[in-house]
Amino acid sequence: MKTIIIGAGLAGLSAGHRLKKDYLILEKEKAPGGLCRTSIVNGFNFDYTGHFLHLRKAATEKFIMSNTAVKLEKISRKAFIHTEGVYTGYPYQVNNYGLPPEKVAENITGFLRAKFAGEPSTENFKAWVSTALGGGIAKNFMFPYNSKLLKYPLDKITTKWLGRFVPNPTIQEIMRGILPRGKQDMGYNASFYYPESGGIESVIKGIYAKIKGNVRLEASVKKIDAKNRTLYYDGGSERYGKLISTIPLPALIKATGNGELIALGKKLKATSVYSLNLGFKSKGKIDRHWVYVPDDKHPFYRIGFPSEVVKSNAPEGYSSVFTEVSFNKKIPAGIDNAIIKGLIDMGFISTRKEIKAWLPLILKDAYVIYDREREEVIPSIMSILNGMGIYTAGRWGNWEYSSMEDAILEGFEAAELAG
Ligand SMILES: Cc1cc2nc3c(=O)[nH]c(=O)nc-3n(C[C@H](O)[C@H](O)[C@H](O)COP(=O)(O)OP(=O)(O)OC[C@H]3O[C@@H](n4cnc5c(N)ncnc54)[C@H](O)[C@@H]3O)c2cc1C
Repeated sequence: MKTIIIGAGLAGLSAGHRLKKDYLILEKEKAPGGLCRTSIVNGFNFDYTGHFLHLRKAATEKFIMSNTAVKLEKISRKAFIHTEGVYTGYPYQVNNYGLPPEKVAENITGFLRAKFAGEPSTENFKAWVSTALGGGIAKNFMFPYNSKLLKYPLDKITTKWLGRFVPNPTIQEIMRGILPRGKQDMGYNASFYYPESGGIESVIKGIYAKIKGNVRLEASVKKIDAKNRTLYYDGGSERYGKLISTIPLPALIKATGNGELIALGKKLKATSVYSLNLGFKSKGKIDRHWVYVPDDKHPFYRIGFPSEVVKSNAPEGYSSVFTEVSFNKKIPAGIDNAIIKGLIDMGFISTRKEIKAWLPLILKDAYVIYDREREEVIPSIMSILNGMGIYTAGRWGNWEYSSMEDAILEGFEAAELAG
């Protein structure tokens, strides 16, 4: 009996490619791609939000290169952090040059004290930051930035997700960061690929084109009868042998109607993101791809400039910006005005009259919260699902913090398990 894949984002489409035959992908939206889609407004390309391809593995590089019809540009990251009214390089910890001298002193002495005190604590994220990077870097960047992004107490967050996402430098690397050139190529995303035209969706278009006969769009899965291996969606039902789900784990759990899973699923948490995307009259070269903004003065934790990544993202003479604001239950009132004021204060836009394109987006459950409850329930949830012949893949399928490349790899892996 065929394998059904729920969701035609990168994870689901990659699983389909790997399965090759006897499978069907059900997707609730009118178009495939999930979060890797691009909306075109008045000639501006807006991704959901900044989506840059960081490829570490030969298998994913080959998959992307052989399936994407447009050329992929290899781009060196121009990422910055805006604190104390100045821009410093990313990652913050190894680019102290440019900060006020007292902040540099705080950051460096704190880091050295932490390094000489021994191994960092893995008790929780807050303790790890203080003992791995030191009190200065904690106070001046890591605590305000991560609190603003996650909206969750940092001492309740585990260290499980850190891996390649939070660089832990050596003494030599941090000392080099006091000098003008710093160590800007550190971290997992020092360079990235991006399509020369059509936004990030160009990657999806190529991958989708080769398997579109196996994808059913506008087919939102509502109920899964695991006992009878039957699944119900808007417009019909299907019997399956194995099931691969890439939809958010809480939605999958709900669809199974399984009491034990539902109880475990109540412990899963995430923070959502509101993103206002704007196209505006250019003031000249911005020369930045994205900027982290940890302070409370501005509502966004990060902004980025699609038009600086590739020119085709904005019409000639115009620039574009994506802004990201995280929230728990409700989008903060008056957020658009606060965002625009922030962009004017930072000097990117002169007046509102210069705005030529406007796209608000809500990214529900964008950042999964890695608390102890997540660690406790995930293994049990996965074991029950696997017992039902259901395998999960992707950032929300596995309820994790991961990248497009991870979504592809997990799609491949789920296909191996289900195949
Ligand atoms: C703010 C933000 C910025 C990011 N930036 C980057 C970046 O720069 N680089 C990077 O590598 N990664 C980035 N990511 C991560 C990247 O978006 C994900 O890793 C990737 O898109 C995950 O793909 P997926 O297929 O797992 O999930 P999705 O893209 O969410 O696909 C799931 C699909 O399932 C469909 N679906 C949902 N419910 C149902 C249902 N009931 N029935 C049928 N279909 C359903 C959805 O419509 C969707 O198409 C970012 C993520 C966020 C939140």
